[in-house]
Amino acid sequence: MTREAPGFYDHGELVAVLTTQPLDRTLDYRAPEGGCHLGAFVEVPLGPRKVAGVVWGPGKGDFDLSKVRHVIRVLDVAPMRAEMQEFLQRAGDYTLTPMAAMLRLATRAPGLGDPPSMRKVYRPGAATPDRMTDARRRVLETFEEYGGLAFTLKELSEHAGVSSSVVKGLVKQGAVTEEDTPRDLPYAYLDPARPGADLTADQAAAAEVLRAGIRDGIYGTTLLRGVTGSGKTEVYLEAVAECLRQGRQALVLLPEIALTEEFLRRITARFGTQPAEWHSGVTMTERRRAWKMVGEGGCQVVVGARSALFLPFRDLGLIVVDEEHDSSYKQEDGVLYNARDMAVLRASICDAQVVLASATPSLESWTNAEAGKYRRLDLTSRFGEAVMPELRAIDMRSETLPSNRWISPTLQRAAEARIAAGEQALFFLNRRGYAPVTICRACGHQIGCPDCDARMVEHRFLKRLMCHQCGETAPMPEACPACEAEGKLAAVGPGVERLAEEAAALFPEARIATLSSDMFGSARALKAEIAAIGAGGADIIIGTQLVAKGHNFPLLTLVGVIDADLGLQGSDLRAAERTFQLMRQVAGRAGRAEKPGTALLQTFQPEHPVIRAILGGDEEGFWRAEAREREQAGVPPFGRMAGIVISSTDPQEAFDAGNDLARRDGPIRQAGAQVFGPAPAPIARIRGRHRVRLLVKAPKGTALQPAIARWVAQVRGSANLRLTVDIDPQSFF
Ligand code: ADP
Ligand code: ZN
Repeated sequence: MTREAPGFYDHGELVAVLTTQPLDRTLDYRAPEGGCHLGAFVEVPLGPRKVAGVVWGPGKGDFDLSKVRHVIRVLDVAPMRAEMQEFLQRAGDYTLTPMAAMLRLATRAPGLGDPPSMRKVYRPGAATPDRMTDARRRVLETFEEYGGLAFTLKELSEHAGVSSSVVKGLVKQGAVTEEDTPRDLPYAYLDPARPGADLTADQAAAAEVLRAGIRDGIYGTTLLRGVTGSGKTEVYLEAVAECLRQGRQALVLLPEIALTEEFLRRITARFGTQPAEWHSGVTMTERRRAWKMVGEGGCQVVVGARSALFLPFRDLGLIVVDEEHDSSYKQEDGVLYNARDMAVLRASICDAQVVLASATPSLESWTNAEAGKYRRLDLTSRFGEAVMPELRAIDMRSETLPSNRWISPTLQRAAEARIAAGEQALFFLNRRGYAPVTICRACGHQIGCPDCDARMVEHRFLKRLMCHQCGETAPMPEACPACEAEGKLAAVGPGVERLAEEAAALFPEARIATLSSDMFGSARALKAEIAAIGAGGADIIIGTQLVAKGHNFPLLTLVGVIDADLGLQGSDLRAAERTFQLMRQVAGRAGRAEKPGTALLQTFQPEHPVIRAILGGDEEGFWRAEAREREQAGVPPFGRMAGIVISSTDPQEAFDAGNDLARRDGPIRQAGAQVFGPAPAPIARIRGRHRVRLLVKAPKGTALQPAIARWVAQVRGSANLRLTVDIDPQSFF
């Protein structure tokens, strides 16, 4: 029967196989004995090797038929669905990524071709042990308590509080059975019938709109806007519940692994058990399990990082992109894609709903909502007692500070008052390390990275200098590398570590915690620290943008933004938007529970439009003004852009190639677009490679990708030359 199904190839028929090898086309093979389905994961011979691939369609027949070899075997996993093939194809076309690289994204789980591995599990046996000890009784009671569920040896001995030899002894006596079962087990059932929170009127109204969207079973995107603490998560969990009731799968994307733990707790509270996790902190075994179960339907909800978009869902009905404006959704190396945009693409292919949740949406999403492409739901008030914090500027022009001090007297007094009341204060500075610049007071030399065009940042905590571009580190030198004068190197400017030092001097009694991503060895250590702070383990929190994300600190009532001007200047077209989002979010940290909060912004430019919009709480006003400026300039989201970076270890080669490309801009001009550059990229050297950048600007609606593909295909250079295309670039380096 299956042989008549569409997309089945009989033994010997020609099939086109897409492999993960860097070849920019499919290869023809003959279907193996027993035939194979369209989308089947297969192993094929390539030269002397065996490589993995997917049956992509009928063979092209453009290769000497007598030389076409057979598919070696079909792997024991569900075939790739047609919608996944379409998604990879369209995402690849959009981002100008070779299909092999797209396929690698979709197969990021180890050992997919392996036979299912087994593990030993333990259940109650029929016999009674000859002698009943306390330890033995605890083992048998553990089974009763969990209704006879199977345990691994480790789980069972931990739950019962006994050593594994106790369990082994019971096995010998037949009181416990030991059996082999496949490792990749389905996930426990998440129950949508369990009651959710009692929603407020506007939460309930928003939830109903989302539920109705899911019930319709068609594609749609909703921007769910509401200040931090307004209950966006509660609301979209109702959409997840509806999705589960419909028997479909849901994916929730979070911008930061450190947020996963708290979120998993909420899912567990709502649906009774844990969903699947997918991010770099998940073990390989669990990854493989998630990948397989998602495809076989043994998994209802995945919580994960952006790459979870490429999991082989069987029936995806909902994608939530939490903190949708977060810049970490844009992949900045490897395949350059924006997870928010790809979520919308994927959902539109599989008739799913998308929820974009944010307190401060991206201008892209705001504009799409204004234009009616997205639905927009606003949660207007914070849940319960919490209110939006009071926002004020501290005009740094009228504060008197000694040099190398950054906490103004006004901020200091405010913090003292909060700490005296048993509350917490947060000092926010978006700069890791101790000092951004190390300068020689004898000759003026600034220590730079040997491989990049970036300054080395001093990290006292790690006792090293570090390049934030390439990660290169070096010990702090005694003498200036340029003039060799000793003891003349001085730190210039503040980083969070230096700020912590200043705070310790100003608040000798206070407990100070510094939260910066580089100060914790592991995601777990960071999570533990965040939990301890939330429970009141610190009086002052010093943090980078890590604290701006969704952590809940109920005792936090004062936020001091050390340098609100940082990020206002700069050539990046999103500088104002980013500053606005970051400041609003940091301010949103204050007073989440019942205590009202205050946010104080230290600035030298209190009249700057962004600072004024933040202080006035006039978000719509800010977005309208920002939209008007971008529209006039014809830049995203009102025009299209692409960045081309050409790099080489030889600076001349990079420049020559850039100039050559700029001269051959025929395909770009024919499409109605324009080329700017080449210019040295804002960071002109990374890891020893010299970088030249061209920008393409086009009116909205231009078919930009085919033009760029034709254009860059003209580049010829040594093997040393690299070219990357970034469609819709987010940052400009
Ligand atoms: P957001 O996602 O907008 O930041 P959350 O959904 O996390 O907001 O809500 C903030 C806090 O308020 C959470 O602790 C949440 O459990 C609680 N909360 C929000 N709405 C309700 C509600 N209707 N009933 C009970 N608790 C709620
Ligand atoms: Zn470097």
